[in-house]
Amino acid sequence: MNLSSTKPTPNILCINPWIYDFAAYDFWSKPLGLLYIAALLRQRGLRVDFIDCLDRWHPELLRLQGKSSPKQRKGSVGPFQREVIAKPECLRFVPRNYARYGLPERIFISELKKRPYPDVILVTSIMTYWYPGVKRVVECCRVIYPGVPIILGGIYATLMPEHAREVVRPDELITSHDASALLVLLADLFEMPELAGNPPKTLDAYPYPAFDLLYGLNYIILMATRGCPLTCSFCATHQLSGYTLRDPQCVGQEMLSQSKKYQTPHIAFYDDALLMQPEIHIKPILRQLLAEKADLHLHTPNGLHARFIDEELAELIFRTSFRTIRLSLESVAKERLRDIHNKITPGEMTIAVQNLIRAGYSARDIETYVIMALPGQEISEVVETVCYAHSLGVRVRLSAYSPIPGTQDYARAIASGFFPANADPLLTNNSIVPLYRTTKDYWRYQNVSQFAHWLNEKAWTGKLVSEIEAKQIYKTQFEKKTAIKI
Ligand code: SF4
Repeated sequence: MNLSSTKPTPNILCINPWIYDFAAYDFWSKPLGLLYIAALLRQRGLRVDFIDCLDRWHPELLRLQGKSSPKQRKGSVGPFQREVIAKPECLRFVPRNYARYGLPERIFISELKKRPYPDVILVTSIMTYWYPGVKRVVECCRVIYPGVPIILGGIYATLMPEHAREVVRPDELITSHDASALLVLLADLFEMPELAGNPPKTLDAYPYPAFDLLYGLNYIILMATRGCPLTCSFCATHQLSGYTLRDPQCVGQEMLSQSKKYQTPHIAFYDDALLMQPEIHIKPILRQLLAEKADLHLHTPNGLHARFIDEELAELIFRTSFRTIRLSLESVAKERLRDIHNKITPGEMTIAVQNLIRAGYSARDIETYVIMALPGQEISEVVETVCYAHSLGVRVRLSAYSPIPGTQDYARAIASGFFPANADPLLTNNSIVPLYRTTKDYWRYQNVSQFAHWLNEKAWTGKLVSEIEAKQIYKTQFEKKTAIKI
């Protein structure tokens, strides 16, 4: 797009803020939405800069760490730089250090000062309970670039716009998942109506995310679908976007060309419903990769819908080299299955695992998500589910419930007195088991975590414990630890 040649080209500065939390790790973590926006604005003729506070490749950070490249683990993931900071008052009961993850603040400030003077600053936001990082970024920008309009978008801004307006105080706030509202806003600000014309309607209409604006990259991330057609009682995905599938051919092309451009075989899918409608979507994508003899390492950090893993899909998954496979189990309790739209039954999970093993995986290569600490959920339900998952030989990843405004379980948690209405979003952090905000409860759930960890070690070494024996061991060796610790 050609912008009017009589006007100077506006400078846009995009910022991905720090994480403030008890724990954080770079498990294929990139601000995908903002990278798409950066690419789109650049395509429309604007000058775009990008500061990722979580960039592990920042040269000054590497100098500080005495490294030439970031520490990496299998799958190209690795730790963020961490600085312990004062714990907010409402989190005092948690017996852990609270930290800022990402660039030290002085590096961020010097980075801010180095960039061309921006005409607009775009700040993204992810978890609601990471808002202190967003707030701090905005405060720094106000000092260094007084008067420059700051536009806030992202998940926190979409889920909690009132809180974000009051606490972060951006000049403008965008709650829409597509780019139209932002383009209209920028077109007005810069008096460039052409900017807002013909906004992309689908992800395939966007240019590829602007990974080149980052200092370095160990992996790329990608979305083959957007959203999810289900509305599980604890999940906010449906509030963020509708469910759409990308053109499988375009997805395959993007994987091949981005992997080549950035010279990495590692690609992580950010999808929430990657395997749905497999015949018209994931299967054609994987067949294309096979036909092109792509040498990739694929990762699915979000839970997969295991019921779609038939023999053919399992084989495609194995042959295209998925290295991280996480299946959503959530719970084996019948009443819970209703809340998650029966997205998986224990029987279907067993078949999916068997298909993956038949295709060539070991059971221990597979992980499964189990949800815990939902409103009214007994610990025995979690233990039952963990023991069942272990009986399949897979490793368990416990995921603690986070009360997200707008979800069914959020309303239930408030109605049943588990969670205060209008609570500080810091209290929705799933690391602290939000509905049970005492040190005693914190340790109760820590014991379940330790039990799952113990079973995972057994799964890893192939020394599986029977379901009955596992439940007995929990009762005698882990549940009782609570009494000792409190
Ligand atoms: S299936 Fe997953 S993404 Fe979809 S609503 Fe349920 S938890 Fe959310």
